[in-house]
Amino acid sequence: MQIQPADPGYWKLQRRRPGTLLVPFWDPFWLVMAVQSIQAETHVRDKSVPTQSAPAGIRNRILGLLPPRELEAVLDRSEMVTIQSKEVIYRRDEPIRYIHFPEDCVISLITELEDGDSVEAMTIGADGFVGIAVFHQVPSSRLKAIGQITGEARRIGTDDFRRLIRDCENLDRLLHRYSQFVFETVSQSAACNRLHVIEQRCARWLLMSEDRVGRNHFDLTQEFLAAMLGVRRPGVTVAMGVLEKAGLISHGRGTITVTNRGGLEAASCECYKTIKQRQSELITS
Ligand SMILES: [Zn+2]
Repeated sequence: MQIQPADPGYWKLQRRRPGTLLVPFWDPFWLVMAVQSIQAETHVRDKSVPTQSAPAGIRNRILGLLPPRELEAVLDRSEMVTIQSKEVIYRRDEPIRYIHFPEDCVISLITELEDGDSVEAMTIGADGFVGIAVFHQVPSSRLKAIGQITGEARRIGTDDFRRLIRDCENLDRLLHRYSQFVFETVSQSAACNRLHVIEQRCARWLLMSEDRVGRNHFDLTQEFLAAMLGVRRPGVTVAMGVLEKAGLISHGRGTITVTNRGGLEAASCECYKTIKQRQSELITS
């Protein structure tokens, strides 16, 4: 028997295949329905904005929550660097030489497999720090870190970093809480990659990138996004086409602009709100 879209069994079949589209977008009727349903959703208010205003010039959220003495100690031992898109920050199993606190760049942590395939485990922007292995007294990581969106970061040598977390109790506490946030985010992403469809995951990924870079336009190719999501590029092309047709994003050559944030939040899976909410609970002064 041929299974039609109206048959509940059809949706079950689609859900069994991670990385496939829930809605058969090659059918114009379903394309229109998907676009209308995305447009009809209401705006979800961003509750994660910290209530404490950050010191002038500090965009990294963790550093912005430090008391003046600890912030001064961090700034004394850090230097501002520009992280380029695709730049390798550290390789898998190689000693990590610097801890990075992104200001407006975004860095991806990548899990690599033996056959050369890789998928993004997490993105880190101005909300966090990169070098969590060193914080947990491990000199290297199984994950590779690469620049995703070009921008600035403050970096600290590992020896200076170890001294800082010994001397700065607020920094130490915030980094512990951020570590818990990372664990919960990666766990949520495991469920998301298995159960949610590409256009939802694209929407979530774009929202997270916008949050982390702090602006609604950034460099991004579909090829890179497909690699980050661990899916084939044609699937990303279709999903991005749906989001663009709904008026939620626009994209040029290698750039993306989020044009309707509320609509994009509605188009995302629940994972975006879940992670965002958890972030606001964990990363506080
Ligand atoms: Zn999800």
